[in-house]
Amino acid sequence: MTDKGTVVPRAGAGTLLTLIRTGRASTRADLVRLSGFARSTVAQRLDALLEEGLILPTGDAGSSGGRPPETFAFNRGAGVLLGADIGGGHTRVAVTDLGAEVLAEDEADLDVAAGPDAVLGWVRDAFARLLDRIGRAPADVRGIGAGVPGPVDSATGRLVSPPIMPGWDGVPVSERLARDLADLAGPGAPAPAAVADRDVNIMALGEQRAGGHGRRDVVVVKIGMGIGAALIVGGEVYRGAQGAAGDLGHLRRGTDEPCRCGNNGCLEATAGGWAIRRTLVEKGYDVRTSQDIARLARRGDHETIRLVRQAGRLVGEALADVVGLFNPSLIVIGGNLAEAREPLLAGIREVVYERSQVLASRDLQIVPTTLGSRAGTIGAALLVHEWLYDADRISAALG
Ligand SMILES: [Zn+2]
Repeated sequence: MTDKGTVVPRAGAGTLLTLIRTGRASTRADLVRLSGFARSTVAQRLDALLEEGLILPTGDAGSSGGRPPETFAFNRGAGVLLGADIGGGHTRVAVTDLGAEVLAEDEADLDVAAGPDAVLGWVRDAFARLLDRIGRAPADVRGIGAGVPGPVDSATGRLVSPPIMPGWDGVPVSERLARDLADLAGPGAPAPAAVADRDVNIMALGEQRAGGHGRRDVVVVKIGMGIGAALIVGGEVYRGAQGAAGDLGHLRRGTDEPCRCGNNGCLEATAGGWAIRRTLVEKGYDVRTSQDIARLARRGDHETIRLVRQAGRLVGEALADVVGLFNPSLIVIGGNLAEAREPLLAGIREVVYERSQVLASRDLQIVPTTLGSRAGTIGAALLVHEWLYDADRISAALG
């Protein structure tokens, strides 16, 4: 993303598109001022963007008697994006406009351990149904974004030894989805752009871009059956050297409880939804998913509330360490278990504020997700949106 004062001249058309699609500029005068380009250069690049259908003239452009338009908007309706949020036990999909506004959505309880054929097959069929429902064709799809509950190699887009996903190691999720969509579009149809990332990273992207938080250094925590975190540094998701940053659930917390990853003492093994479920089942409760646990807590079941609050405290202990190292101004708590709301948040807040240094936690806010269960699908659509409309890619494509 290009900020005022740091314009790369060769970025040309891409820079103008970024200013328009992020809402920072809509008039010719703003574009000249914010890009630093000459008025004639701006005019030329705007013509190229209009010709490609990437932007639209707005305002009274039609009635200005042949004069060139003065105001512009991103052409959100020139196609659709698909977002898939593949979770451990639940998958959500959405069709959005090109600006990642949801047009249609669906979800299902699907065990990711059923393997890529079962899960990606459902995703493909759900996309086809949703497109049909809103009267769009597979050929209208410009891009697919997907989140998966395991580490994705940032260089290859492939899953790397995901602990809870047998059969998924090395599966190129984004490529598979792109190929499936091309097949739906018919013989010889080009595959749309596709990008995949870890589930909590797409949720974080959604919250950062569309959650209205207005913060740039953020930790987003996803608590469902497992626990993961994403770090947003200066407004961008930080993935680390290999894409493994933010693995909060498998930090060792000094217990010897066996974890489903094969190690002992991970945070998840005492605070994850699957650990809470194990305890509840031992006590005779009928619970299957993290949503079941959240529902019990919202209904006021004392034992569930106690366990969820305790899980919140344990997550808070780990987060206090993260706060000390990273000094975020905001922690967003999402995931299915976050639907339990107060007991989880109260447990986390209690420990983070108690354990953090005054300077690091002075302006720190800990809030629930604003996009709720849609954060992942919106974030997935935003992931491919930002890939498609990257300033350098657009400038290169438009010569
Ligand atoms: Zn573990």
